[in-house]
Amino acid sequence: AQEPVKVLLLENIHKSALKRFDEEGFQVEMRSGALGEDDLIKALPGVHLLGIRSKTRVTARVLENAPDLLSVGCFCIGTNQVDLVAANRRGVPVFNAPFSNTRSVAELMIAEIILLARQIGDRSREVHTGVWKKTATHCHEVRGKTLGVVGYGHIGQQLGVIAEALGMRVLYHDIMAKLPMGNNRALPTLNALLEQADFISLHVPETPETRDLIGPDQIAHMKKGACLLNASRGTVVVISALAEALRTGHLGGAAIDVYPEEPESNDQQFHTELQNLPNVILTPHIGGSTEEAQEAIGYEVSHTIAHFETSGATTGAVNFPRVDLPPRRGTHRVLNVHRNVPGVLRDVNQIVSDLDANINSQVLATDAHIGYLIIDMEQNVAMEVSRRIAALKTNIRTRVLY
Ligand code: NAD
Repeated sequence: AQEPVKVLLLENIHKSALKRFDEEGFQVEMRSGALGEDDLIKALPGVHLLGIRSKTRVTARVLENAPDLLSVGCFCIGTNQVDLVAANRRGVPVFNAPFSNTRSVAELMIAEIILLARQIGDRSREVHTGVWKKTATHCHEVRGKTLGVVGYGHIGQQLGVIAEALGMRVLYHDIMAKLPMGNNRALPTLNALLEQADFISLHVPETPETRDLIGPDQIAHMKKGACLLNASRGTVVVISALAEALRTGHLGGAAIDVYPEEPESNDQQFHTELQNLPNVILTPHIGGSTEEAQEAIGYEVSHTIAHFETSGATTGAVNFPRVDLPPRRGTHRVLNVHRNVPGVLRDVNQIVSDLDANINSQVLATDAHIGYLIIDMEQNVAMEVSRRIAALKTNIRTRVLY
């Protein structure tokens, strides 16, 4: 009998992750905290699947000392805490949860659009300090106003759909051609969007092109009194230019969730030029922080790493060639990760034909450094095929699935 699959989950991963592992009969150990490098190395022998959040660092040294580790699941969005290149070279795919918190971010944006339109941040602060300032001046409904979405991906699209339900007109700008949802409309340039929108919400990734995407020139294109929302990445907005536009009254307000530099823990003090400016809502990078998102992350990542373990599928891996071949009854499956040099497939197929076996399906995907191959065979020669492939000079990792 094959040894049971062992899963180690660190950092208080949501218990929704257990369901899928239980269904598969995997053995799961859960720990509440993160582990340092040495403790992680001690904990990993015998562990096949490792689940972490943002605080456990999976370094090249950890990976070198984890011979049984097949895959790492990051139960979060970011994957910087894992040495992705080292994991790739060792044949370890790394998975994350790219859209479990999409809805949470979109809902927060909707709330903040209305709060900015009604200057609720300021009114609330005033009443908390005993000030009664009942006014309708510069306070608006959002119905009929124009929302400009910059970056029409998972979050941007979800936001566009909900905003339309509130009666907003939705324009978007993306560098890729995207199918418009509902009556959302694409604009070819960022400036065209900035000139028309009453609210501008940023949902682009952090890339060299999006650094300082919204600076003094772009702000000058925005309508007087418009509001800016940023829950994407802190580097996308030039904070000094935004602060200046709020001080002079060119912009009517802002809701900011992300900053060029953010504290690493809740104990640290935080300063930004945006503090105490009028109609500015500041939040501590909580756009995706809801219990629903945590639960969804538990489901999503446990599903992907369990699916990888049982079928070899790498769809959704952030550091690995993507292959997904549905399991087929009556076949015998071998998985192989190899150095991407000419001739590997020839050698592998030679091994199979030397054993008088028939290949039923074979799927290969490569990146610059490695190739990932799934082979299904009709005859039960998987153990011997695997042993011989593992002896090839090009082999990184080979295992028999069934
Ligand atoms: P996504 O990859 O689904 O969508 C990003 C979109 O931006 C894509 O359609 C892409 O084509 C487009 N884009 C890239 N460069 C562009 C440019 N220069 N101009 C216009 N469009 C451009 O990403 P997503 O899941 O929607 O997330 C969007 C952002 O939100 C990311 O930066 C992510 O890190 C951030 N995020 C923040 C929180 C939070 O807690 N505040 C939570 C989740 C995600």
